[in-house]
Amino acid sequence: MEEIKSIQDYESRIKRVIVTEDQIKEEIKKAGKWIDGIYDGKPILLVSILKGAFVFMADLCRAVSVPCEIGFMCAKSYYQGTVSTGIVNITMDLEQDVSSYHIVIVEDIVDTGRTLNDVVKLLKARKPLSLHVVTLLDKPSRRVVEFKPDYSLFTIPDYFVIGYGLDCGEYYRNLPYIAEYNA
Ligand code: 5GP
Repeated sequence: MEEIKSIQDYESRIKRVIVTEDQIKEEIKKAGKWIDGIYDGKPILLVSILKGAFVFMADLCRAVSVPCEIGFMCAKSYYQGTVSTGIVNITMDLEQDVSSYHIVIVEDIVDTGRTLNDVVKLLKARKPLSLHVVTLLDKPSRRVVEFKPDYSLFTIPDYFVIGYGLDCGEYYRNLPYIAEYNA
Protein backbone atom coordinates (compact mmCIF):
# COMPACT_ATOMS: atom_id res chain seq x y z
CA MET A 1 0.00 0.00 0.00
CA GLU A 2 1.25 3.45 -0.87
CA GLU A 3 1.76 5.90 1.98
CA ILE A 4 -1.26 8.07 2.79
CA LYS A 5 -0.23 11.67 2.24
CA SER A 6 -3.26 13.71 3.30
CA ILE A 7 -6.79 13.45 4.65
CA GLN A 8 -8.08 13.84 1.06
CA ASP A 9 -5.86 10.94 0.03
CA TYR A 10 -7.14 8.88 3.00
CA GLU A 11 -10.77 9.58 2.10
CA SER A 12 -10.31 9.00 -1.62
CA ARG A 13 -9.28 5.40 -0.94
CA ILE A 14 -12.76 4.64 0.42
CA LYS A 15 -14.22 3.73 -2.97
CA ARG A 16 -17.85 2.92 -2.07
CA VAL A 17 -19.89 1.50 0.77
CA ILE A 18 -20.70 -2.20 0.27
CA VAL A 19 -22.50 -2.93 3.53
CA THR A 20 -24.15 -0.14 5.56
CA GLU A 21 -24.26 0.24 9.34
CA ASP A 22 -27.98 -0.60 9.35
CA GLN A 23 -27.48 -3.76 7.30
CA ILE A 24 -24.76 -4.89 9.71
CA LYS A 25 -27.01 -4.24 12.73
CA GLU A 26 -29.89 -6.20 11.19
CA GLU A 27 -27.76 -9.21 10.30
CA ILE A 28 -26.04 -9.26 13.70
CA LYS A 29 -29.44 -9.61 15.40
CA LYS A 30 -30.13 -12.67 13.22
CA ALA A 31 -26.69 -14.15 13.90
CA GLY A 32 -27.24 -13.71 17.66
CA LYS A 33 -30.54 -15.58 17.41
CA TRP A 34 -28.88 -18.33 15.37
CA ILE A 35 -26.27 -18.81 18.12
CA ASP A 36 -28.97 -18.79 20.83
CA GLY A 37 -30.92 -21.43 18.87
CA ILE A 38 -27.94 -23.75 18.52
CA TYR A 39 -26.82 -23.60 22.13
CA ASP A 40 -30.27 -23.44 23.75
CA GLY A 41 -29.11 -21.93 27.06
CA LYS A 42 -25.75 -23.75 27.25
CA PRO A 43 -22.78 -21.51 28.14
CA ILE A 44 -20.40 -20.74 25.27
CA LEU A 45 -16.98 -19.25 24.63
CA LEU A 46 -16.89 -16.69 21.83
CA VAL A 47 -13.39 -16.69 20.33
CA SER A 48 -12.46 -13.64 18.32
CA ILE A 49 -9.60 -13.63 15.86
CA LEU A 50 -7.72 -10.37 16.26
CA LYS A 51 -7.39 -7.82 15.05
CA GLY A 52 -9.97 -7.71 12.27
CA ALA A 53 -12.86 -9.26 14.23
CA PHE A 54 -12.72 -7.00 17.29
CA VAL A 55 -15.60 -4.71 16.22
CA PHE A 56 -17.78 -7.60 15.07
CA MET A 57 -17.11 -9.44 18.35
CA ALA A 58 -18.14 -6.39 20.40
CA ASP A 59 -21.50 -6.22 18.62
CA LEU A 60 -22.15 -9.95 18.24
CA CYS A 61 -21.53 -10.71 21.94
CA ARG A 62 -24.27 -8.20 22.80
CA ALA A 63 -26.70 -9.91 20.43
CA VAL A 64 -26.53 -13.34 22.10
CA SER A 65 -28.62 -14.26 25.14
CA VAL A 66 -26.95 -17.53 26.20
CA PRO A 67 -24.31 -17.16 28.95
CA CYS A 68 -21.07 -16.38 27.16
CA GLU A 69 -17.40 -15.89 27.91
CA ILE A 70 -15.06 -14.02 25.60
CA GLY A 71 -11.63 -15.11 24.39
CA PHE A 72 -9.10 -13.70 21.95
CA MET A 73 -6.52 -15.17 19.62
CA CYS A 74 -4.26 -13.37 17.25
CA ALA A 75 -3.76 -14.96 13.85
CA LYS A 76 -1.80 -12.91 11.40
CA SER A 77 -2.28 -13.40 7.67
CA TYR A 78 0.55 -11.83 5.77
CA TYR A 79 -0.36 -9.55 2.90
CA GLN A 80 1.73 -7.80 0.29
CA GLY A 81 -0.45 -4.74 -0.24
CA THR A 82 -3.89 -6.28 -0.80
CA VAL A 83 -2.62 -9.72 -1.90
CA SER A 84 -2.44 -12.70 0.52
CA THR A 85 1.00 -14.34 0.78
CA GLY A 86 -0.56 -17.50 2.20
CA ILE A 87 1.46 -17.34 5.43
CA VAL A 88 -0.61 -17.59 8.65
CA ASN A 89 0.91 -17.30 12.13
CA ILE A 90 -0.80 -17.70 15.51
CA THR A 91 0.87 -14.87 17.41
CA MET A 92 -1.32 -14.89 20.55
CA ASP A 93 -3.12 -17.93 21.89
CA LEU A 94 -6.33 -18.31 23.91
CA GLU A 95 -5.99 -18.28 27.69
CA GLN A 96 -8.92 -20.71 28.23
CA ASP A 97 -8.62 -24.51 28.26
CA VAL A 98 -11.12 -25.14 25.48
CA SER A 99 -11.84 -28.77 26.44
CA SER A 100 -14.62 -27.59 28.77
CA TYR A 101 -16.24 -25.16 26.30
CA HIS A 102 -18.70 -24.95 23.44
CA ILE A 103 -16.77 -22.66 21.10
CA VAL A 104 -17.97 -20.14 18.55
CA ILE A 105 -15.17 -18.67 16.46
CA VAL A 106 -15.95 -15.08 15.48
CA GLU A 107 -14.09 -14.05 12.32
CA ASP A 108 -14.15 -10.91 10.18
CA ILE A 109 -13.75 -12.43 6.72
CA VAL A 110 -13.05 -15.77 5.05
CA ASP A 111 -10.95 -15.17 1.97
CA THR A 112 -8.55 -17.96 0.89
CA GLY A 113 -9.76 -19.97 3.93
CA ARG A 114 -6.22 -20.58 5.19
CA THR A 115 -6.53 -18.69 8.50
CA LEU A 116 -9.69 -20.43 9.65
CA ASN A 117 -8.53 -23.78 8.37
CA ASP A 118 -5.45 -23.47 10.61
CA VAL A 119 -7.32 -22.04 13.62
CA VAL A 120 -10.09 -24.65 13.46
CA LYS A 121 -7.56 -27.50 13.19
CA LEU A 122 -5.67 -26.11 16.18
CA LEU A 123 -8.76 -25.71 18.36
CA LYS A 124 -10.36 -29.03 17.35
CA ALA A 125 -7.17 -30.82 18.41
CA ARG A 126 -7.83 -29.45 21.91
CA LYS A 127 -11.19 -31.26 21.96
CA PRO A 128 -13.78 -28.55 22.68
CA LEU A 129 -17.33 -29.73 23.53
CA SER A 130 -18.39 -28.31 20.15
CA LEU A 131 -17.15 -25.78 17.63
CA HIS A 132 -18.93 -23.47 15.18
CA VAL A 133 -17.60 -20.69 12.97
CA VAL A 134 -19.41 -17.41 12.38
CA THR A 135 -17.97 -14.95 9.90
CA LEU A 136 -19.08 -11.43 9.12
CA LEU A 137 -18.02 -11.65 5.47
CA ASP A 138 -17.33 -14.48 3.06
CA LYS A 139 -15.53 -14.28 -0.29
CA PRO A 140 -16.13 -17.84 -1.56
CA SER A 141 -14.70 -17.10 -5.01
CA ARG A 142 -11.23 -16.63 -3.44
CA ARG A 143 -10.90 -20.00 -1.67
CA VAL A 144 -7.57 -21.79 -1.90
CA VAL A 145 -8.34 -24.36 0.81
CA GLU A 146 -11.80 -25.84 1.21
CA PHE A 147 -13.54 -24.11 4.10
CA LYS A 148 -17.21 -23.43 4.79
CA PRO A 149 -18.21 -21.29 7.76
CA ASP A 150 -21.29 -22.45 9.70
CA TYR A 151 -22.82 -18.98 9.49
CA SER A 152 -21.93 -16.05 7.27
CA LEU A 153 -23.64 -12.65 7.53
CA PHE A 154 -22.68 -11.33 4.08
CA THR A 155 -21.30 -13.00 0.96
CA ILE A 156 -19.31 -10.56 -1.18
CA PRO A 157 -17.49 -10.66 -4.53
CA ASP A 158 -13.71 -10.48 -4.82
CA TYR A 159 -13.22 -6.94 -3.49
CA PHE A 160 -10.61 -5.88 -0.97
CA VAL A 161 -12.75 -4.37 1.77
CA ILE A 162 -12.10 -2.07 4.72
CA GLY A 163 -14.03 -0.83 7.74
CA TYR A 164 -15.89 -2.32 10.71
CA GLY A 165 -12.63 -3.82 12.01
CA LEU A 166 -11.00 -4.53 8.64
CA ASP A 167 -7.92 -2.54 7.77
CA CYS A 168 -5.59 -1.55 5.02
CA GLY A 169 -2.15 -0.78 6.42
CA GLU A 170 -3.81 -0.62 9.90
CA TYR A 171 -6.10 2.26 8.88
CA TYR A 172 -9.88 2.26 8.35
CA ARG A 173 -10.74 -0.27 11.10
CA ASN A 174 -12.88 2.40 12.78
CA LEU A 175 -15.21 3.01 9.82
CA PRO A 176 -18.74 2.05 10.96
CA TYR A 177 -19.56 0.47 7.57
CA ILE A 178 -17.80 -1.89 5.13
CA ALA A 179 -16.38 -0.31 1.99
CA GLU A 180 -14.45 -1.32 -1.08
CA TYR A 181 -10.85 -0.11 -0.98
CA ASN A 182 -9.58 1.99 -3.81
CA ALA A 183 -6.10 0.53 -4.36
P1 5GP B 1 -7.72 -15.98 4.63
O1 5GP B 1 -6.78 -16.72 5.51
O2 5GP B 1 -9.12 -16.58 4.60
O3 5GP B 1 -7.17 -15.74 3.26
O4 5GP B 1 -7.87 -14.52 5.15
C1 5GP B 1 -8.27 -14.21 6.39
C2 5GP B 1 -7.73 -12.89 6.83
O5 5GP B 1 -7.20 -12.10 5.75
C3 5GP B 1 -8.87 -12.08 7.38
O6 5GP B 1 -9.07 -12.39 8.75
C4 5GP B 1 -8.40 -10.66 7.14
O7 5GP B 1 -7.57 -10.25 8.21
C5 5GP B 1 -7.57 -10.76 5.86
N1 5GP B 1 -8.40 -10.37 4.70
C6 5GP B 1 -8.89 -11.17 3.74
N2 5GP B 1 -9.61 -10.48 2.83
C7 5GP B 1 -9.58 -9.20 3.25
C8 5GP B 1 -10.17 -8.00 2.75
O8 5GP B 1 -10.88 -7.93 1.73
N3 5GP B 1 -9.92 -6.88 3.48
C9 5GP B 1 -9.14 -6.87 4.60
N4 5GP B 1 -8.97 -5.71 5.21
N5 5GP B 1 -8.58 -7.98 5.09
C10 5GP B 1 -8.80 -9.14 4.43
